[in-house]
Amino acid sequence: MVEALNKFQLIGQEQTRRYWETLIGSGRFGHAHILSGHSGVGKDALAFFIAAALNCKADTKKPCGNCISCRQFLNLENQALQLIFALPRRSANQTDPFTGIKEKEMILINEELAKKAAWPYYHLQIDAANDIRIAGIRKLRKDIYLAIDPGTTRVIIILRAHKMNMEAANALLKILEEPPAGTIFLLTTEYADRLPDTIRSRCALHHVPDLNWKLIREDLLQKKGVDPVQAEICARMSMGDLAAAHGYAEQDNTFWLDRIRATLNTLAKEDFVSVHKQVLLLADKEEQTDDSRQQFLSLLILFFRDVALKVKMGETVLWATQSQQMNKLFPNCDSQGAIKAIERTKNALERKVHLQLALTALFFELRKHLRR
Ligand SMILES: [Zn+2]
Repeated sequence: MVEALNKFQLIGQEQTRRYWETLIGSGRFGHAHILSGHSGVGKDALAFFIAAALNCKADTKKPCGNCISCRQFLNLENQALQLIFALPRRSANQTDPFTGIKEKEMILINEELAKKAAWPYYHLQIDAANDIRIAGIRKLRKDIYLAIDPGTTRVIIILRAHKMNMEAANALLKILEEPPAGTIFLLTTEYADRLPDTIRSRCALHHVPDLNWKLIREDLLQKKGVDPVQAEICARMSMGDLAAAHGYAEQDNTFWLDRIRATLNTLAKEDFVSVHKQVLLLADKEEQTDDSRQQFLSLLILFFRDVALKVKMGETVLWATQSQQMNKLFPNCDSQGAIKAIERTKNALERKVHLQLALTALFFELRKHLRR
């Protein structure tokens, strides 16, 4: 089982997995399901896992990851699998979503699919693929009646299903109302509430919970070979999103720790000049990008969260000593207030406010929360 899990690369989600194993084993399995949850928690990985389990040739412990069917699912090439995802609109053809897509573009799309097969947490990056349109669903309506091996379950997986436009959703609804026997639909989405009620009412809704950051850290240590500090920063900044964590790990984030420590020293002092200096460093448009400032603020939130939880040495490699010092220096620190202030600033920065003013205001507000 562990070996099969390694092959399907499904991280964590043990309860969810057991639930599905029981559901599949029971045989009382509805034909349409929505897997909803935050970005990067493994909804697609779970969908591929379920699809393979439904078609695995092994007697027990499905999916085995070894039989011919499983191996094909691992390559996303099983004939029982139909993947629907957003494609660029290249023609007004209403029955084939691939019409008008040039050969070069098709090669890129296939490369993206190969990346998805290699790592199911990967987000497909296809230029101008803004929505899932009716052509894709109409094609599905034809393909769904093509013969497949007897005894197999046809699985239609719609990735980021909320990208379906209204026309496509209505066309899908017709299939959902009367699907051919032996067909299962799995819709994955971060925004189940954006799906029309008519679709949702015909599907069982399953929530895929957030990933614990420690699992993400382990994955980064194993797969990306980063050092423990970098692994923890990326894992925690990702807020449960494995794909985002892998993205963060592409660059060095450890230098932020020094900046956070400098900021904390500044906050501890009654010194306007040092506040001003920190603000200038952060507002510097040559040195910082909008993303890097957001990253810094996210880390600062993590710090205050750890202070609030009185996180001890050994539980974090990031700032165990600093957070303990903070607890000693400012025993009445209002961490929740500090976190709210940082979140407000994060939102404000997205609206392009005056950087220096917003950051100065934040630093003075943080000070107030420290010395409550
Ligand atoms: Zn198998």
